Amino acid sequence: MKKKENKNSANTKSGEKLCLACGLCCDGTLFKGAVIEKNEGLKIHSQLDLTVDKEKNRFMLPCHLHDPEVGCTVYGQVRPRVCGNFRCKLLKRLHKGKVSEQEALKIVVKTKALKKQVVSEIIKRASFIEPLTLIEKFILVFKSSHEDPYFRRTNAKLFIAYVALRKMLEKHFYKTESKEIIEDEDSSEMS
Ligand code: SF4
Ligand code: SF4
Repeated sequence: MKKKENKNSANTKSGEKLCLACGLCCDGTLFKGAVIEKNEGLKIHSQLDLTVDKEKNRFMLPCHLHDPEVGCTVYGQVRPRVCGNFRCKLLKRLHKGKVSEQEALKIVVKTKALKKQVVSEIIKRASFIEPLTLIEKFILVFKSSHEDPYFRRTNAKLFIAYVALRKMLEKHFYKTESKEIIEDEDSSEMS
């Protein structure tokens, strides 16, 4: 996902590189939906074949235009406004010069490695009809097995990886911290 244009072109370029390497706000890791901004209309969402939840005034994530290898496939083209406006904690810190591009990219690499670990543990346990966010998958697995007396032992690897990922997301990406590890993600959206 990408962000407000920054007056400092070096920072803006760094932001582009970071976001194209990341995509955690597009791929269902951070959010379940992204807001449709005031007076924006739905033309672009319809042109891009995005799934819109009119009641909640948002389009759903993961976004089918996100490619894990290259990032947003319509980057630099006309996109929903939130895609150009959203800035996570890490991107803001980069723009403010509080973290270097190299450090920010390292954080993204580390976070994506944790995400990969969580996904690989999840798919050992269940298969899903996509699209689902990462937390939706985790909750489905968690709820389906938490009454199992051996749950903690058999799912320890998944749980530990998920907690570590969640900590990274809260520390570096979410604007505010959530209190629960397992929560109703319905209110979680990119805005
Ligand atoms: S169009 Fe989709 S992939 Fe591109 S920035 Fe927006 S949400 Fe992300
Ligand atoms: S989560 Fe932050 S760094 Fe990653 S793509 Fe979104 S705005 Fe960019």
